Amino acid sequence: MRKNKKGLLIVISGPSGAGKGTIIKEIKNKIPDIAYSVSVTTRAPREGEVDGRDYFFRSYEQFKDMLHNNEFLETAEVYGNYYGTPRSYVEKLLMDGKDVILEIDTVGAENVKKQFPSAVLVFIVPPATKDLEARLDKRGTETDEVKARRLQASEKEFASIKKYDYVIVNNDLTDAVDDLLAIIRSTHCTVKLNSVLVHKFSGGK
Ligand code: 5GP
Repeated sequence: MRKNKKGLLIVISGPSGAGKGTIIKEIKNKIPDIAYSVSVTTRAPREGEVDGRDYFFRSYEQFKDMLHNNEFLETAEVYGNYYGTPRSYVEKLLMDGKDVILEIDTVGAENVKKQFPSAVLVFIVPPATKDLEARLDKRGTETDEVKARRLQASEKEFASIKKYDYVIVNNDLTDAVDDLLAIIRSTHCTVKLNSVLVHKFSGGK
């Protein structure tokens, strides 16, 4: 993949059960060089989740300490738990020219866009909202109460779609992954992200 000097920040959001995790996994297979920012959370690990791979699982006190030490790029309270993106990891990768994927909620995405206007914001939706419940059921990791809370929250999240640059309907996994690949590739070619090149070819005018 063509590279700009600075890496591209790709922000992925979408309701619980939209298939964000699966799409990101496929993207990592297709672009091995892309980095995924592992978030810090106060939520308890689900079965099969590994500390440092899926999340950095921390206590509320540890999270608060990190917040006070300015260790987060952004944070948000989602479904009653705290989540945050580690600042130094992301900033270093971007400076090294690596593309970085963040999988964060709509509040976090808005914060990131303010700090990194060139970040590309992508919202993933399932083909129909009724599919969300089916997908959460299939995953089988949430209690009924947590599931209900997530479904309710997804309505709020849908209201934020307008703030995103792209929306992908996850009807078919292969198509959704192709769409995201196309978005990443085309964003790399935007004039905005290629100012040095544009300056050179436009004779510095
Ligand atoms: P889950 O608990 O299902 O892994 O994630 C719940 C929600 O938190 C998802 O919408 C996910 O995108 C969001 N999330 C995960 N990590 C972060 C983070 O670092 N910052 C923000 N703002 N949201 C996050």
